[in-house]
Amino acid sequence: MRRIKKKDLVVVISGKDKGKKGEVLKVLPKENKIIVSKVNIVKKHCRPTQTDPGGIKEIEMPIHVCKVKLICPKCGQPTRVKFGFLADGKKVRICKKCGEMIL
Ligand SMILES: [Zn+2]
Repeated sequence: MRRIKKKDLVVVISGKDKGKKGEVLKVLPKENKIIVSKVNIVKKHCRPTQTDPGGIKEIEMPIHVCKVKLICPKCGQPTRVKFGFLADGKKVRICKKCGEMIL
């Protein structure tokens, strides 16, 4: 169980993109990194191909999970996550700010 999952909304708390918000597009568990939309963008020059006109493309590079905070969908605040257990033993994420479950 990870603190950050795909489709979470996160805010960057350090680095050049500090303060930027975005959706988690991909989680890279081995590296402890995530790819967040519009965060840590690198411009790449692409050659035109038959299917692609080429030009400059913006690509999101992975950032370390410790550089972001989850934005709680319930209270809308950047928060830390703690873990709790449901009655059936299922592990869930809980917002430290409002105490609500985050699915
Ligand atoms: Zn909350």
